[in-house]
Amino acid sequence: MKHADFIIVGQGIAGTLLAHFLEAAGKSVFVIDHYSPNAASQVAAGIINPITGRRYVKSWRVDDLIPFAVRTYRQLEAQLNIPIFHERNIIRTLFNQGEENDWLARTGDPAYTPYMLDQPVLDQYATKTVLAYSYGEVTQSGQTDLVRLTGAYRKYLKSKGALLEDHFDYSLLTLTPEQATYKNVVSASQLIFAEGHLGTQNPYFNYLPFGGAKGEVLIVRIPGADFEKILKHRVFIVPLADSGLYWIGSTYDWKFDDDQPTSRGRDYLEQRLKDVLSLPFDVVEHRAAVRPTVKDRRPFLGQHPEFPALAIFNGLGTKGASLGPYWAHHLAAHLVNGNELDEAVDIGRFAKQ
Ligand SMILES: Cc1cc2nc3c(=O)[nH]c(=O)nc-3n(C[C@H](O)[C@H](O)[C@H](O)COP(=O)(O)OP(=O)(O)OC[C@H]3O[C@@H](n4cnc5c(N)ncnc54)[C@H](O)[C@@H]3O)c2cc1C
Repeated sequence: MKHADFIIVGQGIAGTLLAHFLEAAGKSVFVIDHYSPNAASQVAAGIINPITGRRYVKSWRVDDLIPFAVRTYRQLEAQLNIPIFHERNIIRTLFNQGEENDWLARTGDPAYTPYMLDQPVLDQYATKTVLAYSYGEVTQSGQTDLVRLTGAYRKYLKSKGALLEDHFDYSLLTLTPEQATYKNVVSASQLIFAEGHLGTQNPYFNYLPFGGAKGEVLIVRIPGADFEKILKHRVFIVPLADSGLYWIGSTYDWKFDDDQPTSRGRDYLEQRLKDVLSLPFDVVEHRAAVRPTVKDRRPFLGQHPEFPALAIFNGLGTKGASLGPYWAHHLAAHLVNGNELDEAVDIGRFAKQ
């Protein structure tokens, strides 16, 4: 039987970043994860986008979250010797005069000038897409290679003997107020659940108001495109570094039966891409996953109200790449040093009935 300071269940972006910050604080971690190609972190583009929504508002706490995320990914790039974060401006299509006026009004606001250019530069999109009414350009944005990051971190954990590649069976967990023990495999003073959308099946934390939004994406080849920036024209076109491939996505479905790709999702994405591209493309892959969304759109962090040896890190929703680093660090500081949790993310905001 192994002993670690912390056991983490789930090694998507949430579990990976939490393990990173606990280790950085000098603690030992043991991770249990059954790899699934349909986990959100394996399907996401990892876009970091400071300006979102129809009204072009700054995303929640971006002034803190983005610099922290970029610093964290740079540290992990150095530690794991892989590229993770690719700075890429986002070209955003403005479909009519109203949208253009709203955009220009924002660019005049000093709080927004670090994130928006008033003169977009379309580069290759100028000649290889069907031109729209107008465009805006977002800066301090980019793409995080979550697949490469979680894959490399998985290898790192394996090399240290700190990974169990198995399905975690909740019925085989034994708890005391001071300790969590899983089968005869591992024990720790704290076990943190980070199972993404599958957290809905967790008997300890399923009282939390999980949502769930299924998304489908295409990976395509677009010969001759050479796009460097990200384009948002109803769907996103995201260049995937060093591959010649592009990520196209995504759909949003709040009602779904499973996490599998559908022909309806594929048709939708292909049609959106045909509407904008003036080049032919081939679909290389079609994938789907469920985003771990939360009703109030804020992550779940904190210890279980009745079982102090259990904690949760979940609810990264549609923005795991930008939210993950800051809140993983925040939870690690809480678990290691007893720092108070921010009320906005503390699961104490939801009473257990
Ligand atoms: C189509 C799509 C597009 C997206 N695009 C973006 C984007 O551009 N930018 C962005 O920031 N975010 C994006 N997201 C959201 C992002 O993917 C999520 O916020 C993030 O990946 C959630 O990470 P997680 O670690 O909480 O969950 P997951 O990635 O789901 O990881 C959970 C892990 O836990 C494991 N697990 C679960 N239960 C068990 C168990 N019982 N036993 C063992 N292992 C278990 C799973 O196998 C998995 O490895 C997108 C999501 C989707 C679906």
